[in-house]
Amino acid sequence: MARRRGPSKYQRAVQEPPRDVTRLAYGGARKQVRRGTEWLVREIPAHRAEKAYRCPDCAVDIPAGQAHIVAWSAEHLFGDEAALQQRRHYHAHCWRLP
Ligand SMILES: [Zn+2]
Repeated sequence: MARRRGPSKYQRAVQEPPRDVTRLAYGGARKQVRRGTEWLVREIPAHRAEKAYRCPDCAVDIPAGQAHIVAWSAEHLFGDEAALQQRRHYHAHCWRLP
């Protein structure tokens, strides 16, 4: 009986995701519950903050060069990669607010 069922789950997983996504996903994100949702969170140190972002909580820009956090949903309907594409950058102090 033939057992060819197309690429395995493992092979699909390693089909070259964008480098940025890989680095974020496997570079030490931690899981955290905030406002009833599970998030994956990474801290961006000042020297890695290369762009300005708008914090979605307070609608104030996070200037380049300021340490902050990036978060994406751990429960995204379309999986971690889709969630990563929609990641948001928050002020560290805004993120810590309940
Ligand atoms: Zn903020």
